[in-house]
Amino acid sequence: MTIRSFTKSLLSVFIGIFTLQAAQAADSCSAESEVALQILGSGGPIADDGRASSGFLVWIDGKSRVLIDAGGGTFLRFGEAGAHFIDLEFVGLSHFHTDHSADFAALIKSGNFSTRKRSLRVAGPDGDRMFPGLNGFLTSLFDSDAGAYAYLSSFLDGTSGTPMLTRREVGRGDPVVVYQSEGLVVDAMRVPHGIVPAVAFRVRAGDKTIVFASDQNGSDPAFADFAADATILVMHMVVPEGIEGVARRLHAPPSVIGGIAAAASPDTLVLSHFMARSLHKIDRNVALVRERYDGRIVLAEDLMCVMP
Ligand SMILES: [Zn+2]
Repeated sequence: MTIRSFTKSLLSVFIGIFTLQAAQAADSCSAESEVALQILGSGGPIADDGRASSGFLVWIDGKSRVLIDAGGGTFLRFGEAGAHFIDLEFVGLSHFHTDHSADFAALIKSGNFSTRKRSLRVAGPDGDRMFPGLNGFLTSLFDSDAGAYAYLSSFLDGTSGTPMLTRREVGRGDPVVVYQSEGLVVDAMRVPHGIVPAVAFRVRAGDKTIVFASDQNGSDPAFADFAADATILVMHMVVPEGIEGVARRLHAPPSVIGGIAAAASPDTLVLSHFMARSLHKIDRNVALVRERYDGRIVLAEDLMCVMP
């Protein structure tokens, strides 16, 4: 055996081990519990942390029925998780920064290769002068004249047997139900994320509730009510303590995350959306949360499965 062929076979063994681990992770999330959360992307908008950008799957009775966010890299993770487009019922897009929405078109296009005909509900924020709302975002992608992917315009009108995207925009005000089906209710409320219209989602399946905080600065006390007594609360630890300026207007530092978790009192707090600046001194950042919240804390990693 030459050195080259030896290296190649060694590599294939490693790849085999890695693939097996990925498959086991997916199997355990789809099969072990009636309701489970799987992290597709635990990173942020910079490609320096080995993590996909934001994305989360909710498995219900072994099916990937809910997707929250579709940041860059979640297209790949969706497949690695063993999820199927045909099982999706609801997609929530928290806001239209790339790290939460850039892979959406790719995921939707994959639906052309399934036998699915039924529509797919999508919800997201309404827009303003600075940012598009959900309708504007979908039009910019799929409009038959002006869309970047005009060749996929049948997703907007359901022609050619394509599953139609039915849309629900979320404006300011009280929480609203954005999707409901057998054993599943999703509601949403706007959350403060600087000048960016953003939405938090609450997924209720059976007796489990999973709340996705989205990127937010934590300044609206109504959010803790929205997340009250959640089985799992997912919050984004983007910035360290003491940050100021634009970053603080966009994001909650660890002490604020801890305060919200203390008020909402979820069984499990999942911290996600890590970036170099929040991974730096991660122990100190988590300690600041722990000072205020004494429940179970999970630090997200891509493809991790979180059981209630
Ligand atoms: Zn983000």
